[in-house]
Amino acid sequence: MRGVRCPEHHQAPRLHFHGVSLDEITISLSGCCARLMELANAQIALAEPVREDLRKPA
Ligand SMILES: [Zn+2]
Repeated sequence: MRGVRCPEHHQAPRLHFHGVSLDEITISLSGCCARLMELANAQIALAEPVREDLRKPA
């Protein structure tokens, strides 16, 4: 996820992808504080086509 940084600590969130396939992937987040988690979750909600990106070959 691009452009998401904690306004207080200037940290980017860490994303963890879990799942047996791309159809059943779940994304978990870790970050420096609750504020960053909020921002990151909002970004994920906006960025639904993330799955499309994952399907593309590198
Ligand atoms: Zn923070």
